[in-house]
Amino acid sequence: MDHFLYRDGQLMAEDVPLAEIAAQVGTPFYVYSTATLERHYRVFQEALDGLDHLICYAMKANSNQAVLRTLARLGAGMDVVSGGEYARAQAAGVPGARIVFSGVGKTEGEMRTALTGGIRQFNVESEPELELLSRVAVAIGATAPIAIRVNPDVDARTHAKIATGKSENKFGIPIARAREVYARAAALPGIAVVGVDVHIGSQLTELEPYRAAFTRVAELVRALRADGHRIGRIDLGGGLGIPYEASNTAPPLPFDYGRVVRETVGDLDAEIEIEPGRLIAGNAGLLVSKVIYVKHGEGRDFLILDAAMNDLVRPAMYDAHHDIVPLVEPAPGVAPRPMDVVGPVCETGDTFARARNLPPLAAGDLVAFRSAGAYGAVMASEYNSRPLVPEVLVRGDQFAVVRARPSFDEMLSRDTIPHWLE
Ligand SMILES: *Cc1c(COP(=O)(O)O)cnc(C)c1O
Repeated sequence: MDHFLYRDGQLMAEDVPLAEIAAQVGTPFYVYSTATLERHYRVFQEALDGLDHLICYAMKANSNQAVLRTLARLGAGMDVVSGGEYARAQAAGVPGARIVFSGVGKTEGEMRTALTGGIRQFNVESEPELELLSRVAVAIGATAPIAIRVNPDVDARTHAKIATGKSENKFGIPIARAREVYARAAALPGIAVVGVDVHIGSQLTELEPYRAAFTRVAELVRALRADGHRIGRIDLGGGLGIPYEASNTAPPLPFDYGRVVRETVGDLDAEIEIEPGRLIAGNAGLLVSKVIYVKHGEGRDFLILDAAMNDLVRPAMYDAHHDIVPLVEPAPGVAPRPMDVVGPVCETGDTFARARNLPPLAAGDLVAFRSAGAYGAVMASEYNSRPLVPEVLVRGDQFAVVRARPSFDEMLSRDTIPHWLE
């Protein structure tokens, strides 16, 4: 559920009419709801209630400082995948003891930064990474706490570009080889084994893949303990899906996911870590855009918006669906019309939806893409020299711009001219 509802015919973000933000900030812009972010975090807290656990928000979903602070205040840890994300987590006031570092390509510099700044654990994805981490830790006189990410070879039954738990994916170490790699880790200087990690993919809409993966992880934890390793933590990753289409059946609820966690790894006397990203941020955000033109084409009509694939790439990249709704509630009984919804970028891929049934819209009307809070602004680019889309955070009846739209001067000043062209 979210806090973007119609009131008196106007789409609101909590208690703020979105049209009011549009008038002040200009379109397109992302807007996030504090109440929805907090609610989603608490839903996971409740789902794991009674289990020793830590929710490490996967900040690649939405790493705006204001979003991170909102969650950090509730006690959230962070799952980071780069030095930049680590810096953002620190700037948001998250202590190193609540930051886990994931990713297949951690560099020596990133390892050093995290070891000196404080880190809860590295989720190690390969043997070369393990060897490098050992060398870096020894060189600076630190000990690196690690979990090894195992690849359980489970089909997450999600979009191929976001499935990560099959043996052909680049992620983790094959679970069959895990005991051997843990033995190597235990023998390396500067390395302290603290847990096991798994993450099988994103936008999962069924619980069975989780059950299969977590069951394999539980077996592994027992085997590793029998081998003499101290496995105090089990990191189960993220990936729980969200309802992108109001008309589709809803994905499982965090509460039911929590039950699977309890039934599979709940009796292992380990601290449970989870890394949800999309479920916390996805439905907490909208992308608001303005209709520039309605263009009548041959056999189809185009709704040309001022938002484009560079602002929200998910439809172009993953064939993703986002519900699109007008900011002014359509009168009951108006017949919708099929429209191709497109942006101004010079690519045919700049198409948000084909033959989408929408109420009649005209140039100047405002629309919102729902479920755009995760993997939206963070994936935006300035392709076509379109300024990075600004972000706004709402809390009750207040709102604040939490990332401003850059001016053309700012954008131009990032390029520098070599002396021979001056
Ligand atoms: C992307 C990612 C997540 C978060 O996935 P969501 O689908 O957004 O919940 C968690 N852990 C790791 C290692 C990831 O790469």
